[in-house]
Amino acid sequence: MKRSNLFLPTLKENPTEAKITSHRLMLRSGMVRQSSSGIYSWLPMGLKVLKNIEKIIRLEQDLIAQELLMPTIQDSEIWKKSGRFNDYGKEMLTFIDRHEHQLLYGPTNEELITDIFSKNIMSYKSLPLCLYHIQWKFRDEIRPRFGVMRGREFLMKDAYSFDISKEDAIKCYNRMFLSYLRIFNKMELKAIPVSADTGPIGGDLSHEFIILADTGESEVYLDKNILKEEIPNINYNDSKGISKLVDTLTSFYAAADDKYDEEEYMNIVNENNRLKTKGIEVGHLFYFGSKYSIPLEAKVNSKEGKVVPVEMGSYGIGVSRLVGAIIDAHHDDKGICWPESVSPFLIGIVNLRQNDIECSNLSDTIYNNLLSKDVSVLYDDRDEGAGIKLAEMDLIGVPWQIRIGPRGIKNGNFELLQRKTGDITEIKVKDMEKTINKLL
Ligand code: ATP
Ligand code: MG
Repeated sequence: MKRSNLFLPTLKENPTEAKITSHRLMLRSGMVRQSSSGIYSWLPMGLKVLKNIEKIIRLEQDLIAQELLMPTIQDSEIWKKSGRFNDYGKEMLTFIDRHEHQLLYGPTNEELITDIFSKNIMSYKSLPLCLYHIQWKFRDEIRPRFGVMRGREFLMKDAYSFDISKEDAIKCYNRMFLSYLRIFNKMELKAIPVSADTGPIGGDLSHEFIILADTGESEVYLDKNILKEEIPNINYNDSKGISKLVDTLTSFYAAADDKYDEEEYMNIVNENNRLKTKGIEVGHLFYFGSKYSIPLEAKVNSKEGKVVPVEMGSYGIGVSRLVGAIIDAHHDDKGICWPESVSPFLIGIVNLRQNDIECSNLSDTIYNNLLSKDVSVLYDDRDEGAGIKLAEMDLIGVPWQIRIGPRGIKNGNFELLQRKTGDITEIKVKDMEKTINKLL
């Protein structure tokens, strides 16, 4: 992509409405624009990041679940059956269609997926089943804030599992647990599983995945040792290995404010290992048994010939919130420092002297070379000063920057900058191919 063609409305000044870093940087780097309170348009750069996050989630979730797509608009009838139509409260946006039928914009999908299951699955032989989708949700949050972190419209990955027994349901819960650890790890985030309240979803087993950040809205109380744990290389079929991992991780004290118990914390965690901090909730696992399968009649014939309600769980990830969370975890005073896995572009080319024929020729050559290799590249070909171009490339956080200027060219060189570390290497033009291949 050439910068001269890219719709990237960057801002020089910090927008006053933005209270936290990620919100400021998302506005300044032209990723999103607010259209009304808590509702955002995703501009091309922002959308690229959102799609990269979705891709990481799909790759990992496809190993244990199947993707489908449910609508954003739901019928209120199924919510009346589960009892949540009245319980959910003002966060749910409801409206009436031209036939006087009451609809709602889905804040979550337990009812709808259970209804689909109940109408299509009759036998234990179809279990276990785990389904997910990535779809926009609407919650009329009382205080939308911090940009995409607490929006009213937001993108969520939500998965739902159906099993014949509690034992199988917990196995699925544990697979999700591992899947979440891997997903966040691929985004270079350290996500900590903390035991959580089940809230309006209901049920009796629940963990939130929290990224530590000063801007987070949740208070968390930890045993620091949990931060040292590595994710082992286990297969999703190895339920014993996964169960051991979950047991190990959940054996450390880690609780958000709603589950925190001071006395317990003081008793269990040695003083030197206590860490009270703030975090951003990026994922949530629930096991809730037959809470929805009974009222919505999701029952199957068991092996013994009985009709039994299925055991269920639901598993959410805040996809749009993650964009903000990743920025809060990866930035410096110049701007964003994207992890390669989610970056809108892997490589940026900055032509420092646009009107110099040698600089333009070399920039064009490298650009075309990268395009032919299918590398996502942003080429700043505008007739702007070097300072402006370099500052923008830093702001938008492209992980690798190739800088081409007249001084370097005289010596047969260009510069390669790694955004994260700020390290600059002089590269011989004749070594271009080798250098590029190393980055891929
Ligand atoms: P919170 O405690 O932050 O309000 P929640 O418990 O209501 O979240 P869940 O119902 O568990 O959220 O939804 C799954 C995930 O969706 C959350 O872990 C979070 O990452 C994301 N999420 C929830 N509400 C919002 C929101 N208003 N804006 C952006 N993301 C959200
Ligand atoms: Mg929650």
